[in-house]
Amino acid sequence: MSGTYILQSNRASFNQNSVDPTCPLCNEAPETLSHFVLNCSLTSEIRKPIIADIRFEIERLMPNTWDSFNTDEKVYTIIDCSGLRHRGK
Ligand SMILES: [Zn+2]
Repeated sequence: MSGTYILQSNRASFNQNSVDPTCPLCNEAPETLSHFVLNCSLTSEIRKPIIADIRFEIERLMPNTWDSFNTDEKVYTIIDCSGLRHRGK
């Protein structure tokens, strides 16, 4: 999330197919930012309570917001929630 880890999908795009973009943790999908933050099955047990806490706090402050987010909005809110200030009522 700090940008110091290079996702396999980014590494592959810079190396013109000589690098496999598949997630090295689960081997189930390309390791994109959304996969890494929201969907990787290998980290799901660690991620679920953290995402639940984030969702709870957002819904407490701004009801019905989290469920209205698309995948990118969820990823970017998890990475940097300062964007929520502009959505406040
Ligand atoms: Zn994965």
